[in-house]
Amino acid sequence: MRFVAKQPKEGINVSGTHPLVEAGALIAGLSAIFVIIALVLIFMVELALYFVSTEDEARLFSDWLPMDLITVAPDDEKLYQIQLLVDRLSQHWPDSLYEFRVEIDDSEVANAIALPGGLIVVTEGLLDQVESENELAFVLSHELGHFKNRDHLRALGRGIVLSMFFAVVTGNDVTGIGLTAADVTLKGFSRRQETAADEFGLYVVNEEFGHVDESWRLFERWNIDDGSLITLVTYLSTHPKTEDRIVDMKRYAELQGWRMEGQLTPLNW
Ligand SMILES: [Zn+2]
Repeated sequence: MRFVAKQPKEGINVSGTHPLVEAGALIAGLSAIFVIIALVLIFMVELALYFVSTEDEARLFSDWLPMDLITVAPDDEKLYQIQLLVDRLSQHWPDSLYEFRVEIDDSEVANAIALPGGLIVVTEGLLDQVESENELAFVLSHELGHFKNRDHLRALGRGIVLSMFFAVVTGNDVTGIGLTAADVTLKGFSRRQETAADEFGLYVVNEEFGHVDESWRLFERWNIDDGSLITLVTYLSTHPKTEDRIVDMKRYAELQGWRMEGQLTPLNW
């Protein structure tokens, strides 16, 4: 029998599916893979937290500063006063292994962040709005609560692994990643982490002043001025809704039997 070579049918290499549908499936598949990798990385961070002791953290980050901070002069009067206040407040957490450091970021956007190594950053925008030492003490003590629960480290780990992963995916140079405060804080902490930090914050404030008056005053003021205070966007996007937060804080203080009214201390600047 003679072999007769047949022409293949037209379109043998062309799929019957619409190209857009195929592209969609490819993108969906790739995205799913990326999401899974990101979740695995986040899980590994949780795991790594068991192995990184607070001593290691405090040592590794003892003089670290995020790249995007614009710090005020080291002899700034407010900086000095806030450092003194943090030193006083941290005495109510006697087994803490941190030496807390304060930096003021010269930004109009109100924010306060807990960063690795015991670094607390508050912005000028926040300080402009604080009207008593008691208000400021609560904001700082709340940040101490994040250190106590190691929330800041969890956020840091996620910030690092996710920005490295993103760099790999986009083909950027991984070694070029400078860690910024924004990377570290990502989208803020969960509501549960925030509530725990509020509760510890109230505890510290009560130990310091013998009452918790004005702890929520800043949030009350923000609540009323909500619409006009656009400078608050950052703090509010990383923290719970102020109404809920005030209610929860007052309820907790009441349950603990802490005095909710007391002598207020003015700021010394
Ligand atoms: Zn917080």
